[in-house]
Amino acid sequence: MREQLVQLEEQALSELEAAGDLKSLEQFRIKYLGKKGLLTGFMKKLGTLPPQERPEAGRLANSVKQRLTALFQEKRERLATQEESGERFVIDVTLPGRRPLRGHLHPLTQTLLGVCRIFKNMGFQVAKGPDVELDYYNFEALNIPKDHPARDMQDTFYISDNVVLRTHTSPIQIRVMERRRPPVAIIAPGKVYRRDSDVSHTPMFHQVEGLLVDRDVSFSDLKGTLISFVHQMFGPDTGVRFRPSFFPFTEPSAEVDIRCVICDGKGCRTCSQTGWLEILGAGMVDPEVFGFVDYDPEEFSGFAFGMGIERIAMLKFGIDDIQLFYKNDMRFLRQF
Ligand SMILES: [Zn+2]
Repeated sequence: MREQLVQLEEQALSELEAAGDLKSLEQFRIKYLGKKGLLTGFMKKLGTLPPQERPEAGRLANSVKQRLTALFQEKRERLATQEESGERFVIDVTLPGRRPLRGHLHPLTQTLLGVCRIFKNMGFQVAKGPDVELDYYNFEALNIPKDHPARDMQDTFYISDNVVLRTHTSPIQIRVMERRRPPVAIIAPGKVYRRDSDVSHTPMFHQVEGLLVDRDVSFSDLKGTLISFVHQMFGPDTGVRFRPSFFPFTEPSAEVDIRCVICDGKGCRTCSQTGWLEILGAGMVDPEVFGFVDYDPEEFSGFAFGMGIERIAMLKFGIDDIQLFYKNDMRFLRQF
């Protein structure tokens, strides 16, 4: 219903724009605003809608009618003056200029920058790595050897046997640790790719990965850092819990949940009635991984965490379909 109306308005606007003289303008009026016009016909049909939809649809149709009528009248006056004075193409310098559309950052970019800002304030530096990645960095050095079952968890885009589109931002950890000695405190934002597409998955999405390695880093440092992040991102009263989990490159590993932001823990569709929502994975860096970058696990310890930006943005803004982020519908984007 709403779409039909939007279409009708767009079509009407372009015809109004095209009308170059009073005669074609009158044809426009009859076609859209006249007693048997398209818009009038549309409004007559409102009565057939279910009662709960009628007020909203009525309001919309009325506002379209008002806009079109106002523009029509304005144009008619202008054309009338022009035709009287015998000038067909006059530039009216007294008309106000058209404002150019001012863009703003995409909601995902806003979220990504927001996450980075929080960790930067805690002393983390931003690190970047390539989207097209060697198998070695994407899997091997993260303790995911060729025959490891974890490779089945991720359906990967292979460029060749040895080159992939990175499936996570974790390879950046390895690249940074290869170059630098501890202390290391980085966050690595970026695009990642998996062969997945449905309501909650897109083939390309965004992650932020974090890594901190130093002497005497413990699981409580991990907890403190992530709890502080959640409170800054979702508000100081947000409940947080850590659940044991498994990742090949951390041990022990945990998944972090926040109390459901939709139902406040009472249980709803979004949180599958559990009252909790998973937002990130984390853990202490597996000593095996340190072996690949020549860090002594006796001397150093560290933690790593990773989160999906789409997920964070969906929870923060209350969006239930991930595809909306990629449709470039201005009506959606303008809301942020
Ligand atoms: Zn809920």
